[in-house]
Amino acid sequence: MQAVEIKTFDDYWNNQDVSRANMERIREFNHSQNVGGMTQGKNTKRKTDIKHSTKKHAVSRQNEHNRRVRRFKLRMIRLSIVLMFFLIIYVGIHMISYIVGNMANRDGRSSDGYELLSDEAGVDSSYDKTEYTGDWKLIVVNKNNPIPDNYDIELTTLSNGVKVDSRIYPDLQRMFDDMRAQGIYPVVGEGYRTHEQQEKMMQDKIDAFRAEGYSKKEAKRLAKDWVAVPGTSEHELGIALDINAALDSSTTHEEVYQWLYDNAYRYGFILRYPEGKEAVTGIDYEPWHYRYVGEEAARHIYEGGLTLEEYTAK
Ligand SMILES: [Zn+2]
Repeated sequence: MQAVEIKTFDDYWNNQDVSRANMERIREFNHSQNVGGMTQGKNTKRKTDIKHSTKKHAVSRQNEHNRRVRRFKLRMIRLSIVLMFFLIIYVGIHMISYIVGNMANRDGRSSDGYELLSDEAGVDSSYDKTEYTGDWKLIVVNKNNPIPDNYDIELTTLSNGVKVDSRIYPDLQRMFDDMRAQGIYPVVGEGYRTHEQQEKMMQDKIDAFRAEGYSKKEAKRLAKDWVAVPGTSEHELGIALDINAALDSSTTHEEVYQWLYDNAYRYGFILRYPEGKEAVTGIDYEPWHYRYVGEEAARHIYEGGLTLEEYTAK
């Protein structure tokens, strides 16, 4: 028997004495059914014909399975694309609203600071929420410097129910004792005020102007001259006090203010909003509003005729 060198698929088939036409038919069939050629190719034409019906059945089943797998894969790809699309839209919308919201808050504060009081916004969430790590006695709170978030306050309640930061209580008590010893009877009218109380004060003032016939915008603008924007009042710190004459005494307010003006610094308190410094503090002269800064700073501020803003800016 002559050895035939088999190099290619065609050689193999020729060697099996299968006509080229037949081979082409089988190959075409195999190709169209997407079934590997070698296994089937080993059969002769006759064998192929005999097995054709059962094979066709098996092949079509296999083919159906393949189609299903393809359809399933396609469906999964389409589903993934749709899901990705919605995810991108969702994330996009949130990013845009976040950015727009931040810009609106910033603009609101820099223009008139009243966005916090709009009908929609009850709670302030627009400040930088950073913990205050500086010296509590020298913290500057004004319309440009709102109270930091997480500002811890421990309160002491005075005999008339007014609350103050517990850290200023000993010096406050010492000051009041000395005043009374000199025949002057003061009272702390306002001490610590919650953010909600400050908001209510502002809203009441706006409502009062509205009742006088001013527009909403005009009423807000006018109220700002009377009440500190919530979040920017020192009263929310608990270390600022409005001190007046006790009502049940013969002491006048002016006597109290004069005494405080001359002596409060000795106890660590300063006149926070002096006359002639309105441009610096942004607040009109308030002879009753005293702020605790500690004895050392109070002396410097008193002797230098400074404001807290000027002192802390040095
Ligand atoms: Zn005050």
